[in-house]
Amino acid sequence: MDCLPGRAGCKQEVRPPPCGLCSGPRWWDGWRRVKWQATLTPDGLTWVEGPWRRRTRCFNPECDSRSSTLYEAQAYPYRTFAPAVAVAAVLELLSVEGATVVSVAQLWQCDPRTLDRWLGWIGWLAELAVLLKVCWRYDPSGMPPPVFQPRRKDLDPPTATTKPTWKDRATLIGSLVLLFEWLARLHRDHGIPLEEGPGLSALLRRQFDRYRLVSMLTKRSPPMQTQVLWSGG
Ligand SMILES: [Zn+2]
Repeated sequence: MDCLPGRAGCKQEVRPPPCGLCSGPRWWDGWRRVKWQATLTPDGLTWVEGPWRRRTRCFNPECDSRSSTLYEAQAYPYRTFAPAVAVAAVLELLSVEGATVVSVAQLWQCDPRTLDRWLGWIGWLAELAVLLKVCWRYDPSGMPPPVFQPRRKDLDPPTATTKPTWKDRATLIGSLVLLFEWLARLHRDHGIPLEEGPGLSALLRRQFDRYRLVSMLTKRSPPMQTQVLWSGG
């Protein structure tokens, strides 16, 4: 666990890391547990019991940071659904003929609104053009990039509109997922270790290990550090 040695005279031997917002001292604030967490295994969706984790609170009364959960250094922080589950569910929604947000959400045991948020979350992680350039830079084969082509015929909206269509959105999100998959494969081909599973979640884990950046699945997250993930071993 990420802890710092306490000062002499402290009641406890270790203190939480300083506040990520104001760099001020934090203190323990009880324990928290998400009882069940969904992970992706070769058998599909698997529910496991979540561990108890300590919470910390910032001392600074003017700091916007409130109580937050402290995660083990080796654990990627997520509340209920592992990022790999979100990626798998989104790909199923975009690829399987006749699939709907409701039907896929039922299959992956999540709320339909959660599944819709996962689509938006992936869309915020990278700009397609930037991700393409990164992949091109590291691909020695010069192969053309994978482009997602929805096989579903039912993605077009019923009426014409000037706004991006469902099909446009599906193509963008699907292309991002494939490019993240491609980038992860390039990492692995060059001997850069990544955890198993979908490329996007494996790259998120590498980003977390290196920069302690956490991507929250249901919020707008900072873009992935795809241009620097490669370097530094
Ligand atoms: Zn603070």
